[in-house]
Amino acid sequence: MPSTDYAVRGAVAAITFNNPPMNTMAHAMRVALLERLEQAFADPAVRAVVLIGAGRAFCTGAEIREFNSPLSVAPPNLRELIALIEAAGKPVIAAIHGFAMGGGLELAMGCHYRVAAPAAQLALPEVKLGILPGAGGTQRLPRALGAERALGMIVSGNPVEAKSVAGTALVDTVVEGDLLEGAILFAEALLAKGQPLRRLRDMAANVADPAFFARERLRIAGAHRGYPAPVRCVDAVEAAVRLPFDEGVKVERRCFDELIAGQESKALRHAFFGERAVAKIPGMPENTRARDIRSAAIVGAGTMGGGIAMAFANAGIPVKLLEAKPEALARGLAAIRGNYSATVARGKLAQAEMDRRMERISTALAYADLRDADIVVEAVFEDLQVKKQVFAALDGVMKADAILATNTSTLDVNDIAASTSRPQAVVGTHFFSPANVMRLLEIVRGAKTSNETLASVMKLAKTLGKTGVVSGVCDGFIGNRMVERYLQQAFFLLDEGAQPQQVDRALQDWGMAMGPFAMSDLAGNDIGWHIRKRRALQSPDFAYSKIPDRLCELGRFGQKTSLGFYKYDAGSRTPLPDPVVTKLIEDYRAEAGIAPRAIADSEIVERCIFALANEGARVLEEGIALRAVDIDIVYLAGYGFPRYRGGPMFFADAAGLAAVLGAMGKYRNGYHGECWEAAPLLVKLAAEGKTFSGES
Ligand code: NAD
Repeated sequence: MPSTDYAVRGAVAAITFNNPPMNTMAHAMRVALLERLEQAFADPAVRAVVLIGAGRAFCTGAEIREFNSPLSVAPPNLRELIALIEAAGKPVIAAIHGFAMGGGLELAMGCHYRVAAPAAQLALPEVKLGILPGAGGTQRLPRALGAERALGMIVSGNPVEAKSVAGTALVDTVVEGDLLEGAILFAEALLAKGQPLRRLRDMAANVADPAFFARERLRIAGAHRGYPAPVRCVDAVEAAVRLPFDEGVKVERRCFDELIAGQESKALRHAFFGERAVAKIPGMPENTRARDIRSAAIVGAGTMGGGIAMAFANAGIPVKLLEAKPEALARGLAAIRGNYSATVARGKLAQAEMDRRMERISTALAYADLRDADIVVEAVFEDLQVKKQVFAALDGVMKADAILATNTSTLDVNDIAASTSRPQAVVGTHFFSPANVMRLLEIVRGAKTSNETLASVMKLAKTLGKTGVVSGVCDGFIGNRMVERYLQQAFFLLDEGAQPQQVDRALQDWGMAMGPFAMSDLAGNDIGWHIRKRRALQSPDFAYSKIPDRLCELGRFGQKTSLGFYKYDAGSRTPLPDPVVTKLIEDYRAEAGIAPRAIADSEIVERCIFALANEGARVLEEGIALRAVDIDIVYLAGYGFPRYRGGPMFFADAAGLAAVLGAMGKYRNGYHGECWEAAPLLVKLAAEGKTFSGES
């Protein structure tokens, strides 16, 4: 339960509010704070008030658990509390340590003065949830810092350190040492000087360059296409400069109300809560022990093994790399060193830090040397026989409680587990390339994977700074199984009349970080080629365009060969349309007797995204994904899906499942219409007027 502590020292009352861990302004916290403020304001012996947070932070804002509930606005709401403080006849000083975020910083800005620990972090991160500060933050911050700096903070949502803004009206002074002590001394000095109350609302918000807002609005609109919150931040901050405070607050409120009702902020909130939800595994007993992983080993020092080793080293975990041959080991280690060196050269990593990370990576040629590692991740060739041999060897040497993980992207984790005497310790850890960078980690739960193994790897994901999502065993797991349907449509669109650059641009305009053809060129077109060859044997009915195979037959594997769906200048990653590809596509159409047609961008987007959602429905129905939100998080964290669209399942829910089904019905009569057979779960939910997220 939130509580407050109230202590009067001389003429200064100190109110300490306590709502662990981050002192969020839950309703009960606001009620308790109001009571203390009224007490302090009513006491004639109290001439100044210090507000300070207990524990780790001043206050990180609203209480997430009360989001969307009546409690979030029940009186006293945050705006009322801030108005009461600001209107008080006695100085109120916020003493900030740890974090003052969102509503927490708005509360602090309602105070007359602010003192802070030098390293305290101040931020208005609302934009990350698709909204803007709604308790006067957009009006008070420009008055405290000037419009330019304030806009930078509000549009980015990123924190500033107190010491970097010390001496402005945002942080009057930093306090080294005991913060409460410093704040009380500050209050006493104010009283001694008889300094008048300073209210941010009464100050002017200034901008040096009159053209500032017009320029920023254009720039920000360009950088955040399809996503309205950042531009609304410009509107609100401009209002702070141009309008009286109370009028500016009305503009802020109007923008806030518009944004909170919009689809984009709903999607961003879905993503925010989703990232927390995927960490909880339904049915996992409360007392399941998640082990600490303090050492790691990796078999195979190729592209993935090297990246995974870096992910461990970056997180401070010592890691041993094994290869069968010394040359391969040397090559792998050189690639890692080269990778770190490039980051150092770009000024993104200190040489000393690189040295520390390299020291954590050691090498081995014999399995016995891996014995003591808490986890071993296999990243050898994608060949079941090779992997089985590796696991049998690991089974023979690894300590009893080691976790045996495979980075396979397509093979059956249960088959691999069966080559050991301890299938309960076997799990898939499907990293994405480059493994030291990409946030997504699909954690593949085999039929016999134990809860303890699973929980330990989920915890490891967090330690590595990854978003872990549990997947069941199937070909491609959640992400790649679905992406195959997405690419299938992208390729068919070429058959029918589109060019790679049109498809990529349409999907990028819609918000994807990268179009499917640029993505394919980056990942290597040969990967899909191998999968299609295998698929042709396993599921001969799976239809494909022949165009990507023809590219591969020409050795156009993508960026690594400087030629793919696009051409690349030496050393450049910029995709350039290539007439050779245009000709290849035209020849293929002529050969197949397809009369090309003009295809609208809207059709491109609908077909690619609905194909994802339809396969996602199957993934959900088969229990491969635990919940629809798990699928969404896979796409947000691993596939460049626009966060403000919430993920493929959320997007389909928002479009309405009946409408999705209707669109699919239309495509069923078109080119390779057989691919549009609707997933039974989609049909069922659409008929019942339900959604994927409601279902799970
Ligand atoms: P790679 O060819 O770059 O590296 C494989 C390495 O394993 C090579 O260095 C090879 O010498 C070594 N190796 C092979 N057999 C070995 C053995 N018996 N003992 C020790 N070392 C051995 O391949 P990669 O792209 O790093 O892929 C590795 C695994 O990761 C595969 O299962 C692949 O499907 C999976 N994966 C790849 C990607 C990707 O984008 N490349 C993404 C996710 C998962």
